[in-house]
Formats: sequence, C-alpha cells, structure tokens
Amino acid sequence: MKEVPLLPSVQAFLERDHGNFIDGQFVIEASAEKIPVINPDTGNVISYIRNSSASAINDAVQSSLTSFRGKWAETSPYQKGMIINKLADLLEQNSEELAQIETLCSGKSIHLSRAFEVGQSAVFLRYYAGWATKINGETITPSLPSFNGEKYTAFTRREPVGVVAGIVPWNFSVMIGIWKIASALVTGCTVVIKPSEFTPLTLLRVAELAIEAGVPAGAFNIVNGNGRAGQELISHPGVSKVTFTGSVPTGISVAKGAMEANLTRATLELGGKNPAALLHDVDAELAVQGLITTAYVHQGQVCASPERIYVHRSRIDEILEKLSKGLAQLKIGSPMDESAQFGPLANSGHFQKVKNYFDIARKESEIICGGESLGGRGYYVQPTVVLAKSSNDTLLREEVFGPITTFLPFDTDEELISLMNDSPFGLTASLWTNDMSKALRLIPRIEAGTVWVNTHTFLDPSVPFGGVKASGMGREFGGAFIDDYTELKSVMIRY
Ligand code: NAP
Repeated sequence: MKEVPLLPSVQAFLERDHGNFIDGQFVIEASAEKIPVINPDTGNVISYIRNSSASAINDAVQSSLTSFRGKWAETSPYQKGMIINKLADLLEQNSEELAQIETLCSGKSIHLSRAFEVGQSAVFLRYYAGWATKINGETITPSLPSFNGEKYTAFTRREPVGVVAGIVPWNFSVMIGIWKIASALVTGCTVVIKPSEFTPLTLLRVAELAIEAGVPAGAFNIVNGNGRAGQELISHPGVSKVTFTGSVPTGISVAKGAMEANLTRATLELGGKNPAALLHDVDAELAVQGLITTAYVHQGQVCASPERIYVHRSRIDEILEKLSKGLAQLKIGSPMDESAQFGPLANSGHFQKVKNYFDIARKESEIICGGESLGGRGYYVQPTVVLAKSSNDTLLREEVFGPITTFLPFDTDEELISLMNDSPFGLTASLWTNDMSKALRLIPRIEAGTVWVNTHTFLDPSVPFGGVKASGMGREFGGAFIDDYTELKSVMIRY
C-alpha cells in the first residue's frame, strides 16, 4: 500500500483554525462549540470547525444581501460568466490540494476527488458560466381588444430571487456545493452555503479561490455547523430561496421550516432507492461492469446509484455469479492509495447504519457475497450483494446509501414495471437491453426523474436532474434551474 504524499499546503490548511467564510474572509467565532472533522480511513481527528451561532449566520446573510443589492448586481452578465470560468480554472490549478483535503474528510478515493469533486466541478462551472448571458424573458402581445385605439405591449423579465441558502450533504460536498453556487451566481443571486459537518473543509478553500477569481466579497459565503445551524440559515428572513440536498426526513423539515419562516421557496434533491432492470437480452458483461462502477463507486454513497436490481429470471444466476466474482477482485484500501478501488464509509454513524442493514439482510434475505465489516482501523465494510426473498424485504424498500445491491428476479414486463414503481422514491432508474423498441415503450411508464439505458448515474450538466415522488422537488442543470432561481416579472406598457 502506497499512499499519495500529503502536500505541505494541505497539512498547513488542516492545521488552520477553521470557522466560516463571510464577506471575503475567514471568520473564527472563538466562543462557538468546536466540531471535530474525522478521517474515515483512520477514525482520527484531522481538524476542527465551529458550530455557527445565530449571530454568525445573520452576519453571513446580511453580507450576501449587501452583495446582492450592490457589487454582484453591478457585475454585468458577461463579467459574471468570465468570473465563473476563472473559478473553474483555479479549481483545476489547485486540483491536487482540493482533492487531498476532500479525500481526507470524506473517505472518497483520491481518483474520484480529482475527477469529480474537482474535474467535474470545473466542467459544471463552465457550463453554468455560459448561462450568465442567456437569462432572458420574452415579449408578449396582450390578448385583450383595445377600446379607444390605445395599444399595449408586454414583456417579462427574469429577476434573481435574492439570497439563496444552500444545504449540502457529505457525499459530494464540493460538486453538489458547486451546482448550487454556480446556479445562484449566474442568475444574479448571492449564496450562503452550509456544508455537512462531516465534510466542511474543501468548500472553505473553494471560497478563497472564488475571491481570487473575482467573485465580490459576500456574493458567496459559507457558514459551518450542524443541523441546528442549517435550520437557522434556512429560516432567516433575509433568505429568498433554499436549495437542499440530503435525506427525505431532513428535506421535509427544511421545506416546512422555510415555508413557515417566510414562505421561502425550497427545491429539494432527496434520497432514492433506484431500480436497475436487466432484461432477458441483457449484455451481461456490460451490465455487471456497469453495476460495479455505479452501485459501488464511493462505496455506494451516491444518491443516483442503483440499489434495487431486477433481473429476468432466465439470467439471474449468471449475473449474480459474474458480479460476485467482479466484486471479489476490487482492491479495498486507503482512499489516499492510488491503487485502491474501494474505501471506507464516510462517517461512524453511517458505518453503524450499513452494518445494521447487513443484520437485516441476514435475517430477511440471502447474502450472496460480502455482508461483513472489516476489522482494524476506519469505517470499512465489504461490497455486498443480497438476493431478496420478496419485494417486501427491507433491503428492497429502504435506502441504504451504501455498497449493497439487492436482487429480485422477474418474469414479465408488466411485473417489472410494477416492481420498479413499487417505492416511495423516484430519483433514477435504468434499463439494460439492446431492444430499443422495448426500452422506449417502457420509459414513459417508469416513475423516475431520470431513466438511463445501458448505463446508470451518468450526470451531464446539460441534462436536467431531480426526483419525482419522495425524491424531491425541482430540477438542477440544463436550463431547468433558471426558473427556480429567478422570479418572473411582467411589464405591460400602454401606448
Ligand atoms: P442529511 O442528514 O439529510 O443532511 C444533509 C444536509 O442537511 C447536511 O448538511 C446536514 O448537516 C444538514 N441538516 C441536517 N439537519 C438539518 C436541519 N434540521 N435543517 C437544515 N439542515 C440540516 O443527509 P446526508 O446524510 O448528509 O446525505 C445523504 C442523503 O442525501 C441520502 O438520502 C442521499 O440519497 C441524499 N442525496 C441526494 C442527492 C440528490 O441529488 N437527490 C444527492 C446527494 C445525496 P449535517 O451533515 O452537519 O448534519
């Protein structure tokens, strides 16, 4: 095992006293409770943050309000796009430093941190930057008749809603943060982000780079802390929109809190229990490789990844055998080891939760491979495959958000659709088949925000993403996000 050597700048960053980033500066609240940041690979404390007080949260929102009405409002759409592009450049120039900080907090493989948390974040930033100059209303010809020869014309304006509060989970703390920051800034909003207390560090460094890129002080602030800090942020009267990514129960509490505080609009990207359907003609090699790379990447802690796998009865034995063999070859090891393919879970609470699902699987279902935690340091478990006894098995109903796929055979297309839709969630789904005619007929019947064919968890900035049913409200990416970050103002002129 050979771990990537820690950059001196990363060591120095970890040793800093961390708090918030408000109005272009790091701010430490000396009296605030300290929260330890733990490396999931070792279980050791690597740094501390502060649990923001109501007063610090108020400072952050006020600073974002000032920037919204001042510097950021005065920045032209062209300049906004240039600044966001520059931030993308700076992310890439500081890629290794950002990736190492993120891997140490989250347990994400250093490859994934480099490729997604930094590389894909830069791709998304550049995509969003292009929208800055394309946020337009429309001209309308009013429909009522003129009574005395007067005429009317009308147009709409897309105006930024104001200060956005963004609540970010621990699984992709930079990339999901960037989706929210970029959506807010290109539409002319300003933004206060609350990262998860488990992965609070990397966005602080991104905020520093944003200032270097030319984002005016206050347009992008960060408040750290736990759920209480998040609740105070979303209910602040200066906040005009909440964008939340996380679990269903917290999402409901956030939406209620925002609504009760100020009728604040909220978009919610929530959990999933995503089905993948392997039809009778499935290409077994392609599907098994696809499941290994999408269901087990980042130890399965990906909202869009497949957890319920329905396989045509004629192919299930072959698929289970190939998948078990493939998973046995994954090299488990430290996320800072470039040769490791599978690392630890992100935190101790989540580790306990996944181990509990192993116990449930042992009682209710059949474990085909894996199903154990690994002794020794950190929060490691085995990649696991479960065969359900029926569609009522807990492992087919509850989101694990970990490296467990649960299989069930099906016989007919009607049965398949009924199984796929038999869930309160509706985030993503996939069909694995070469029969495109069948796939195109099944797609409209699947209750999910995204359906992939012969792939899964493939997010592209130009393709809208979000959930139906309990998986959320609203869409990110494409042009779909613009409606959520702007108000439509109608203007009518008599002449
Ligand atoms: P979580 O417990 O709901 O937390 C999400 C964020 O909300 C964290 O920053 C958390 O802070 C904060 N929070 C907790 N309680 C809060 C409250 N009362 N008010 C305001 N904020 C509060 O979710 P998680 O465990 O971090 O993430 C896993 C879940 O997110 C899974 O269900 C996964 O499917 C979902 N997810 C969905 C998407 C999507 O795009 N649909 C993407 C990624 C993840 P602390 O962490 O400090 O408690």
